[in-house]
Amino acid sequence: MQAEKTKKIKKVKKTSKVQKGKKTKKPEKANKVQNKKLRRNMRIGIAVLAILLVILGSVKIFKPSWFTDMYLELTEEKIEAVEPEIDVELLTVNPYSRPGTPTEKITGIVVHYTANPGATAMDNRNYFENLKDGHDTQVSSNFIIGLEGEIVQCVPTWEVAYASNSRNIDTVSIECCHPDETGKFNEETYKSMVQLCAWLCMKFELDENAVIRHYDVTEKICPKYFVENEEAWEKFKKDIRRTLKDF
Ligand SMILES: [Zn+2]
Repeated sequence: MQAEKTKKIKKVKKTSKVQKGKKTKKPEKANKVQNKKLRRNMRIGIAVLAILLVILGSVKIFKPSWFTDMYLELTEEKIEAVEPEIDVELLTVNPYSRPGTPTEKITGIVVHYTANPGATAMDNRNYFENLKDGHDTQVSSNFIIGLEGEIVQCVPTWEVAYASNSRNIDTVSIECCHPDETGKFNEETYKSMVQLCAWLCMKFELDENAVIRHYDVTEKICPKYFVENEEAWEKFKKDIRRTLKDF
């Protein structure tokens, strides 16, 4: 029995020697691998840091205003500089066309057509104004663009207008005049539409994709020409993007 036990102990000793040998070899290799990894990580870290410094440096050179309060002032100046001519003819506050309700953060611009061929911007504006007495319906818009490209503002952009249904609360609406039943806009109206949309995009920090049709809110055929001619709508948005770039 005892002999068997000592044999077993020897065996155990032998195996533990082998394990010891293995153990002593492993940490050396592991250390080497770890060191390699550490050096590699340090190199990556230094490279990332260098890239960040270069980016920061170029931003400071090309966009110095980002590092000061000048940025906001410059933006405001720029917004004023490219503001189209607007005839501000605000409606009287009344429940039928200018409820006086504050808008939420503006996230879109909704384009409409008046569906009133030949009528001028002021005709449409006065129709909205007269609703306060006639009580016929609840309708209005923030802006109307006329047949000569004139822009009339009826409701401030920080107040809700009754034009775009569920999106009245977070959009600015633009009604656009048109000479005939096709709903196609003439050149003057179109130019002002592009200018006004681009300017509003800049003012509210949006891009041309935030410009939508009334149709996109309710599927109403409005503005008719841009619903029936998808290409014309896409071109309109491209023209807004180009104008935004020019600003
Ligand atoms: Zn509409």
